[in-house]
Formats: sequence, C-alpha cells, structure tokens
Amino acid sequence: MNAHNHNIPEGRRPIRQLDDAAANRIAAGEVVERPASAIKELVENALDAGASRIDVAYADGGKTLLRVTDDGHGIPADELPLALSRHATSKIDGSDLLNIHSFGFRGEALPSLGAVGRLTITSRFDGAREGARITVNGGVLGPVEPAALTKGTVVELRNLFHATPARLKFLRTDRAEAGAIADVVKRLAMAEPHVGFTLRDVSGGGEGKVKFRADPETGDMFDALQGRLRTILGPDFTANAMRIDAEREGYRLSGYAALPTYSRGAAVAQFFFVNGRPVRDKLLIGALRGAYSDFLSRDRHPAVALFVSCDPELVDVNVHPAKAEVRFREPGLARGLVVSALKHALAEAGHRASSTVADATLGAMRPQMPHAPVYQMDRPSQSALRSSYQLQQPTYEPQGFAEFPPSGRVEEVIEQDFEDLPLGAARAQLHENYIVAQTRDGMILVDAHAAHERLNYERLKSRMADNGVPAQALLIPEIVEMSPDDIARLLAAAPDLAPLGLTIEPFGGNAVCVRETPAILGEVDAAGMIRDIADELADLGQTQTVKDRIEAILSRIACHGSIRTGRRMSAPEMNALLREMEATPYSGQCNHGRPTYVELKMTDIERLFGRS
Ligand code: ADP
Ligand code: MG
Repeated sequence: MNAHNHNIPEGRRPIRQLDDAAANRIAAGEVVERPASAIKELVENALDAGASRIDVAYADGGKTLLRVTDDGHGIPADELPLALSRHATSKIDGSDLLNIHSFGFRGEALPSLGAVGRLTITSRFDGAREGARITVNGGVLGPVEPAALTKGTVVELRNLFHATPARLKFLRTDRAEAGAIADVVKRLAMAEPHVGFTLRDVSGGGEGKVKFRADPETGDMFDALQGRLRTILGPDFTANAMRIDAEREGYRLSGYAALPTYSRGAAVAQFFFVNGRPVRDKLLIGALRGAYSDFLSRDRHPAVALFVSCDPELVDVNVHPAKAEVRFREPGLARGLVVSALKHALAEAGHRASSTVADATLGAMRPQMPHAPVYQMDRPSQSALRSSYQLQQPTYEPQGFAEFPPSGRVEEVIEQDFEDLPLGAARAQLHENYIVAQTRDGMILVDAHAAHERLNYERLKSRMADNGVPAQALLIPEIVEMSPDDIARLLAAAPDLAPLGLTIEPFGGNAVCVRETPAILGEVDAAGMIRDIADELADLGQTQTVKDRIEAILSRIACHGSIRTGRRMSAPEMNALLREMEATPYSGQCNHGRPTYVELKMTDIERLFGRS
C-alpha cells in the first residue's frame, strides 16, 4: 500500500441533497450555453404558446439584455411562480415521453435562466382581466404583481451570467454572439413560416435597429416555406431549388434542395428539421453528403432546407439537453429516404443547371459604360428563368457520334426541329471547346469538355449497373477479425456486396474472409474497407462505402476519357452531344458541381443591347 496515498480525503462531507438554486444552476450549464441558447428556449416557448408574431430584442450581443415578446395565449398569474420552478411544464403530463408535439417538455428553461441572470416574465393569460409580472434574480423569486399588458407574454433576461463570471469569460465578442442569436431566430423562422418574426439590436436603448424581419407567410406548407426561404436564404436559393416531397414507411421528407451548381464553399446553408424542430444531426448531414457526392467535389456543400416528419414514436427527441440532436428509431430508413428522395429529385432536374450562372454571365456582359443609366438592365425575372427550365424532357434516344445522319440535307431538316429542343441546334464551336447553339427563344453555350466528362461518367455508371462490377480474387484471402455483431451484419449484407465485386465469407470464430475485391479499385486495404463497411452497417443499417469508392474511380476515368479542350467537333458531333445531354440525368453539371452549359434568353440578349 502506498503510504502517501492522499486519496482518502479527511475533508469528505456526507452526501446531501442540493437546493433548488444549485440544481437550477447546474441545469443551466447544459441548457444555457450562451445568449443564443436562451433565445432559442424563449422563442420556442412563444411558438408553443401559439404566437403569430414574435419580436426578439437584444443588447450588447445579448449579454446585458435579451427580450422575447409574443402574442400567444399567455400564462395565468397564479401559475407564474410555477413556470419558474424546475420540471414544471404545461406541455406533457410525464406519462408518455415518446409522444411529444411541442418544442418544450423538460420544464427546465425558465428556472435555468432565472438561476443565471435577472429574469422578468410579464404575461396576460387569454381572457384574464389584467396582466401580471414576476421577477427572479439569481434564483430568488419575487412576488407576483399586476402589470399592464394587452396580450401575450414578454420575457426579459438581463445580465446573463453576471453572477457566474466563469461562464461570462467563455462568451465571444458581442458581434459573434449577435450572429449566433440571428442564426437561432432564422432557423426557427424557417420551421414556422406562418409566424412573423423581427430581430432587433437595442444596444443603447430605444426601438433599436432591425436586424432581421420575416412577415407571416400564407398558403400551403410549400408556398409558405418557399416565401420564408426567399426571405432568409435569398431569391437565388429559391430560384435554384428543387421541391422535395417523398415518403417511405412512415417517414416523410419535404422542403427544398438546391441544384448542385448552386453549392456553397462551406456547410452554411444546410438546415434540417425533425418534426418541426431544428436539429444538427450527423445522420441527416451524412445522408445529404451521400446524395450529392456524385455531383460535388469534396470542398463544395449543397444548400438545403429539409423537413423530416414522422410519428413522434419513430424518433426520440429526449436525447440532448438543448434538444439539438435526435435519435431515429429506424436510422437506415431515415437515411435511405433522404438519399433516395434527393437523388430522385436531382435526376428529375435532368440537364437543368443553376440559373444564377446565367445571371452571373449577364452581369459580366453588362456594358461597362460610365454615365449610361439608359442601359441599366434588370435581372431576368425569376419566374421567366424558372419557366425556361421547365421544358419537357425530349424523347430522343442518346446517339453515338458515328451513327449520326451524315447527309447535310437531312441535317438541315433536323436542325429546324433541334431549335425546339431545350439545348437547341449547334451553330459553332469556339476556342475548340465551347459549343454555341440556337434555341427558339435564345442561345445556349456549352462547355463541351465538362459535358462530355459528365456523360462519360453516367455511361460508365449505367454500364456498371447493367453488367455488375468485375471482381478480382485476392492472392491470399484476407482474414479480418471483428465482433460477432459486426460479422453477422456483414454476412447479412454480403449478397448486396457481391455484385459490386466484393466477396465476403464466414471464416468461423471471430473473423470473416475476404476473397475478392472490386477489380476497378486496384490494390485495396481490404481489412480497412471491411471495417468501414461494418461501422456503416452498425450506424445506418446499410452501406454506401463500396459504391462510393467505385463511383469515385469511375469519375476519374470519365475525366481522362473526355474530350480534351482543343478538339474540334463536327456539327453532327456537337448536336449529338446536345441531344445526349438532354436525355441524360444529371448532365447540367460536371462531376465537380460546375455547370456544363448556360442559357441566355432572347430577352436577355436584347437587354444587353438596350433593345428592350
Ligand atoms: P417547457 O417549455 O419545457 O414546458 P419552460 O421552463 O420553458 O418549460 O416553461 C415552463 C412553462 O411556462 C411552459 O410549460 C409554459 O406553460 C409556460 N410558458 C413559458 N413561456 C411561455 C410563453 N411565452 N407563453 C405562454 N406560456 C409560457
Ligand atoms: Mg420551454
């Protein structure tokens, strides 16, 4: 025994129950990390109270003042002290935690906030003759007093963390905290498009400066959401977004997802909601990446606002104190729905590419004349751009270059018809790459190299889907040790992996045997790949790894097999390329998320020359 063992403390105190104030401060540690988390709780309370307008105000990044005003149903005066006590809520009775329809249910927010700042609630319950007010400061409750208020609730939190200097030190600059508040408000505003929101910075007193405003939207869920997204993410997002609406075994996915050509440099425009609750969920983010992996390079990020809805029993929201994470009952199903719905929408979008590309082109082509306001152009209206993308898919079969009609006469006749097709009739090739085509009402400029690369890739993939992937036997089969659960899952998935060229067999004991790997991957670390697959199966119930790796290789091959810039094409070749683009899904962007073509309408061209 160590004679210098000081681990048995002489000063040990007996176990005791902490008082409410201490318990609330501890709870606040989890729930209230920064001003933005307080705002999240208060706005959620306002939404739960059925508010139709919510006003959020803050001063000094929320450090000195946070205030949320709503027109909801209010709180009865005699319940005000209860609202401030721990685990007191009007939203659940505690009997069924798997059937939650409100944002709140833990009954922790108000007492936590009251423990780390000076909190005042003023409220007038619907039907009550007057309003009432209560204040709690550092956990000490004041009396309920009458107060003037016409409707709803005002919750004010002053000097957050002033009593806990340690927490105060962790806060960032006022600017950063204000940014986080705006982020929270916008996420909740997306979740509730029918509710109006304002966000004001009232530093220095007065009405303050409006930082964000979103008027209540009307119409059905999609219309309202689209309007709200236009306000928050901008008209470019909605003009470039695909409407998503899909359902699978009790899970529904709806919302908007932007075309790959409208991608971002960081994951800043990815918004997920589960049963109306904003979440940051690894599974959903992973599924999103999976769905777009084919169209975006690693450093580009899709922009989406997507809503998963399901029976509350199919998802556990009580797994995170701030309720930012959820746990799906059927993770594989939820992931599969997101991946397949998005891939389906991307396929439907066909050769459609981002309209902002055309906008940007127009902007760049605007005459650079000083003092020439006469030539100032409007951007093409979003609806005009939109309708131009909603042309019917042509029924043309993809053609090989060689099989194309060689006679000039036939060509002429065909070219007339080509003008009615979305990508038009090829007229010229510029700089031995760019194809200029004429459409009935405008022109198309195609990056032949990028387009060809994409078409090659799609062709390789469909060949793989038709014929399977050749397998290559390992000289020495690889024996991989793993847990019995992993082995069981891997063997269950083995029949799905075999067509991809990966052959796994039982080996007995705690191992599986890898006999063959996909030939196209060359020499692989078979054990590493098998472990990745096992992890994926455990997390998600299905695996993408092998397919992803194969597609990455196909994409590289497609790139090498493509028309190099600098190759001159004949008219039939160019037209064949345009027709194949029209008939091939995903052909509007190259494998790196860049557009393969841009379109200018006649009206756009006329505007360029000041003709309209
Ligand atoms: P929870 O939201 O989990 O129920 P809170 O501590 O956030 O817990 O709020 C406690 C209770 O106070 C709520 O259940 C609700 O009845 C009431 N309440 C809080 N904020 C409001 C509000 N803005 N309007 C009406 N009632 C409110
Ligand atoms: Mg709450």
